[in-house]
Amino acid sequence: MIPEDHPRHAALVVREHLANAMRRGIVAPEGLIAQGRGEAFDYLLGEQTTESAARAERTAAAMLLSARNPVISVNGNTAALCAAAIADLQRASGAAVEVNLFHRTEERMRAITALLAEAGVEVLSGEPERLIPLSHDRALCLQHGIGAADLVLVPLEDGDRCAALRQMGKRVIAVDLNPLSRTAQTATLPIIDEVRRALPAITAACASLTPAEAEALAASVDGSVYLHQAIDSIVRRLQEVEHALE
Ligand code: ATP
Ligand code: MG
Repeated sequence: MIPEDHPRHAALVVREHLANAMRRGIVAPEGLIAQGRGEAFDYLLGEQTTESAARAERTAAAMLLSARNPVISVNGNTAALCAAAIADLQRASGAAVEVNLFHRTEERMRAITALLAEAGVEVLSGEPERLIPLSHDRALCLQHGIGAADLVLVPLEDGDRCAALRQMGKRVIAVDLNPLSRTAQTATLPIIDEVRRALPAITAACASLTPAEAEALAASVDGSVYLHQAIDSIVRRLQEVEHALE
């Protein structure tokens, strides 16, 4: 039991949830380490959605609404943290959902697919093929899913695969709290925000955009602006903390 009055109650509840999801085979052990790296950057960002990230989330909604074949690529951490939010986003955006794992086993694929289906997500199925220019099983995806997608939303992706999807000519939206990660740096649109805050914000924006607004917003996306603004936020915050010490 995590005491309610613990100052880091919310973060501890999430950790416990992810540790349980690991024991159930949803999250890979490495996924717990990835969450820890994310938490560190969330600390630096003040554990809230910055104005810049909110603009990125609205832009992500616009890109999803105006894409021909948008696909949301879901890994173990995202499924454990956001299954219901993915169902909402799928309904709001019309995007397909494909499970894609770095640490891929048939057992984990089945467990994650079942978890998502229970939350109301329609998950793509079929025989995966080695379509992504990467070695080993990280190349695997569905021809009618990520293979045919013009836009892929990859919450919590690794940098290699993000770059490989870009090489295939796809637009990529990444959610990653670390503005220095290769994922954030190679995505068409990096959303520097916590994934549980980011996905509902994208869903809400989907409902508020007209098709014409979406088209216009999606046409001119400059990902580097969001990286600069996130780094600026961190620098300003560190300076404030440092001044408070003096
Ligand atoms: P690179 O992108 O440079 O290749 P990486 O992908 O190898 O780095 P990992 O530790 O595997 O780095 O990836 C985890 C990334 O996901 C981290 O950059 C972390 O900031 C981010 N992350 C983890 N949990 C969350 C979360 N809950 N919300 C948003 N981002 C998160
Ligand atoms: Mg990464």
